[in-house]
Amino acid sequence: MPTQTLDREVVIIGSGPAGLTAAIYSARANLKPLLIDAPVDAEKQTTPGGQLMITTDVENYPGFSEGIQGPDLMVEFRKQAERFGTEFLEEWITEADLSERPFRLQTENYVVNAGTLIVATGASAKWLGIPGEAKVPDGFGGNGVSACATCDGPLPAFRNRPLVVVGGGDTAMEEATFLTRYASHVYLVHRRDKLRASRIMQDKAFCNEKIEFIWNTAVEEMLGEPEAGVTGVRLRNLQNNEERVLPCAGVFIAIGHKPNTDLFKGQLDMDEVGYIKTSHRSTATNVAGVFACGDVQDATYRQAVTAAGTGCMAALDAERYLDHLPVAMPSGDEVTIEGEHVTPDHSAIIEPDGTIIPNQPENLVAQED
Ligand code: NDP
Repeated sequence: MPTQTLDREVVIIGSGPAGLTAAIYSARANLKPLLIDAPVDAEKQTTPGGQLMITTDVENYPGFSEGIQGPDLMVEFRKQAERFGTEFLEEWITEADLSERPFRLQTENYVVNAGTLIVATGASAKWLGIPGEAKVPDGFGGNGVSACATCDGPLPAFRNRPLVVVGGGDTAMEEATFLTRYASHVYLVHRRDKLRASRIMQDKAFCNEKIEFIWNTAVEEMLGEPEAGVTGVRLRNLQNNEERVLPCAGVFIAIGHKPNTDLFKGQLDMDEVGYIKTSHRSTATNVAGVFACGDVQDATYRQAVTAAGTGCMAALDAERYLDHLPVAMPSGDEVTIEGEHVTPDHSAIIEPDGTIIPNQPENLVAQED
């Protein structure tokens, strides 16, 4: 049972690039943010710092001309957030009530009342759950097994070597196509004989001479050596059950991501996969005062730098909202902290009691009268 209550103006959930950037901005704005992140949990695959904690070299984050290790980058993010006074709480949130402000979050030891809430809980790559896939030292995760071609594809270990991509959606097509820049050959292993990917992405992959499709096949096991990492995969043809070993230097799992939004189901509007819907002009969700940033609301870009960018936006949106300024909602209208709605065409302001006020300069209204 929670024993202590915390009241905070800005509460951020998640400590990846989005959450920590939101923390840096809101802490510098003197909003004294509280950042809640999940403790390390091998089973649930959670690590404070998000997906970059399971990445090695990050070569595409601007500002690091020589590249930086993913975990080192997140240490820097965190130090920067700490420097401006971000308060951290490492606990699992068991319940979230967004029905009224302040929003109420419950953890094992605390009830947290939040004036505004920034959701930056990210998305987790889905894994096959097969032998050899776990993170080093239990498997080859991080040493030949990856869920991010953009992050790991250009590594020297994969240059001019055969690679395997698993999946049949747009991500798999994109990753396979991207990896042909570095690999000698890319095998795309899919469990069916039809792709889920969009026509255009399929065509791009089919036209690429370096990509070879292996249909109706499952990857059963990652094979390798502790030092060398992955050396191959064991495949099973799902039609005739025949097994074979395919030598390769790396395996990229591209079977989709799962946004971490279970806590908010039924409260925040989401798409059919579970990504939170935000306004195209801000990070506002359908609940005024709740903002979402990073991968939890982005199925398209999913890069550390785009996550950080939306984290900045969420902090500025929360600040605006606390300053009683209207924030653009996904519905198109704008909402203030007092509950006033400005219609999408800005022609009227609807007060919390339903009174409609024409949004016109006073003299114009006087003339019309
Ligand atoms: P999807 O859910 O679209 O595809 C996942 C693929 O992985 C499917 O082919 C599925 O097989 C396969 N799969 C799922 N689970 C397993 C498993 N356990 N074993 C083997 N194979 C499995 O995910 P994506 O990440 O590809 O795409 C997510 C969303 O992001 C989509 O809306 C996509 O359009 C979008 N996207 C857009 C891009 C772009 O436009 N540039 C780039 C990347 C993503 P099966 O088909 O049999 O179900």
